[in-house]
Amino acid sequence: METTRRDFIKRTLLLGGTLLFYPAPLYATKKEEAWRPAYAKLEEEGKFARKIEEAYSIFEDCHLCPRQCGVNRQKGEKGFCRAPLKPVVFGAHPHFGEEVSLVGNYGSGTIFFSNCNLRCIFCQNWPIAHEGKGKEIEDEDLAGMMLYLQETGCHNINLVTPTHVMPNILNATRIALKKGLRLPLVYNTSGYERLEIVKLLDGIVDIYMPDMKFMDGDQAAKYSSGASDYPEVTAKAIIEMNRQVGVLKTDSNEIALRGLMIRHLVMPNRVAGTEKFVKWVAQNLPKSTYVNIMPQYRVEYKAYEYPKISRGITVNEFLEAIEWAKQSSLTNLDPKSVAVYEFYRHRRSS
Ligand code: SF4
Repeated sequence: METTRRDFIKRTLLLGGTLLFYPAPLYATKKEEAWRPAYAKLEEEGKFARKIEEAYSIFEDCHLCPRQCGVNRQKGEKGFCRAPLKPVVFGAHPHFGEEVSLVGNYGSGTIFFSNCNLRCIFCQNWPIAHEGKGKEIEDEDLAGMMLYLQETGCHNINLVTPTHVMPNILNATRIALKKGLRLPLVYNTSGYERLEIVKLLDGIVDIYMPDMKFMDGDQAAKYSSGASDYPEVTAKAIIEMNRQVGVLKTDSNEIALRGLMIRHLVMPNRVAGTEKFVKWVAQNLPKSTYVNIMPQYRVEYKAYEYPKISRGITVNEFLEAIEWAKQSSLTNLDPKSVAVYEFYRHRRSS
């Protein structure tokens, strides 16, 4: 039986709703009343609509990301990411596995977009990112998902792999804003972003959460579909993100409101260049920048075909990664990752 768009949206929301059969939290409501997201201020200044127009015009000769395919997505042409004009969504629900300051008590309101402009061969979400599993929806439906996540008490709207659907996200955010959306947007990206596009997002996004996957162009090319410019391009994008939102700020309940949160996945055989990464952060950003050095690499998708990354990381590889970060005087490491580090270090010494 064919699934209609309406069925899909209903099912997607119900999936999240089953996790959350309790009223929206009182303190979250109070916080939302007191705190205003960047895009609300932009709307008041009369600048949001113009930004959306500018973003949508990019679809005609798509250069939303560093691949710069030049296809006309308004006419149905598809580029490297294989994304159509309308957003394709795999799911939308409160997520409790994200960073503690995003999850809080009621979850991070996560929307998973299908397709991807980077397409790593070790992708942990490959059915969504590579195969495009999901359902095409309208911008109005996307706005409805945002509002639903807010109603359930989520602390933010966490946009996973947003790069190739950025104009749709902006349009949906404005539609939702007019209906009462008040949560910060989390731009949860692979980091493979054009500087010009990040500049366009100035005044819209409150929390940037980019990955920094590699520090070496050859590794990026090998494992991320030829993206040899990844380290250079991502470094510039992250510096601009920091210029816009700065060091992470939280509310009195330690819930993230605005700032930069960088993710770095430790890979086997030092493929990710972790030592170089932490030194780069220390030299180019405030030492109090939030950095999550993640231990959860697993062999997914085609990674088993590449000997260097066809195993999980060792305890030593994770310990040395956190030690490099400490030696670089980074002061705001993700507490969960530090707890994993402390656990293994203690076990080693006992
Ligand atoms: S968003 Fe997609 S179509 Fe546009 S430049 Fe990037 S890969 Fe190409």
